[in-house]
Amino acid sequence: MRHHCTDPADLSTRTIERTQQPSACPKSPHCSSRHGWILLSPHKRVSNLHHAPCRRATKGPAVLSPSERMHRVKRVIIAPHMDDESMGCGGLIAKYPDECAVVTVADSGEVRSREHDEAMRILQVQHTINLGFEDGETPQHMTALVRALDEVLADLQPEELYLPFPSLHQDHIAVYEAGLRACRISMSPDHWFPPNVYVYDIAVYDVNLYPTDLRWNVFEALSEAHIDAKTAACQAYQSEIPTEVHPINSVRQIAAAVGHVRLCDYAEQYALVRAVRR
Ligand SMILES: [Zn+2]
Repeated sequence: MRHHCTDPADLSTRTIERTQQPSACPKSPHCSSRHGWILLSPHKRVSNLHHAPCRRATKGPAVLSPSERMHRVKRVIIAPHMDDESMGCGGLIAKYPDECAVVTVADSGEVRSREHDEAMRILQVQHTINLGFEDGETPQHMTALVRALDEVLADLQPEELYLPFPSLHQDHIAVYEAGLRACRISMSPDHWFPPNVYVYDIAVYDVNLYPTDLRWNVFEALSEAHIDAKTAACQAYQSEIPTEVHPINSVRQIAAAVGHVRLCDYAEQYALVRAVRR
């Protein structure tokens, strides 16, 4: 797992690697958790990421003060691959860069990672995490994926979680299903229950090819500046962009069509899965 963090005072992206070699869990012989990962936020919060069953044997997370909660990430976007976050939620991220964290599941190599860093710089998002799963292989690692998402949610405690539409690509289906499992009610006191869960539209895959009752029923209005940033972030993935007609080359037109129907200049659309209003 690699954690990237962009300091707001310095938009260059730092990669925070594992602080020590993986070691046996000191708390349980059955624990396979990878120790030594840290997440360094712009406000210098450092926490160990550790999976729930082992954490349960230790002291639970501290209760946050209202001011600490204000500085927390509000929205977490889970992307199967580096580029899905920009196509699906690039406008939302550009609109609320300080409130968003982007979690990418697959590690698709150095070129893609550099393109992702550039996209995140364009969107000015400060929190990014890569879980390091092999591209195309996530369905074979569902337990590990759910555990990794559990850890991310427990650490960031977001109010809103965004998952990909589960269409066609096996990684997208796996991340959607793992994400829903991570949103469960759990017996673990450290488990985070995200009150609001959405599915985002990547606009690349034909939704009719995956039978579902998901409906696009939440719309985020975007400005010209937001759609400019989203377009630029998508175009940062140059190794992915085809020369022929393709949705990634029509980000502005798609956002305009979605927005105009709802009396906005531009919009992104999401399907509401759950909303708990406290
Ligand atoms: Zn993808």
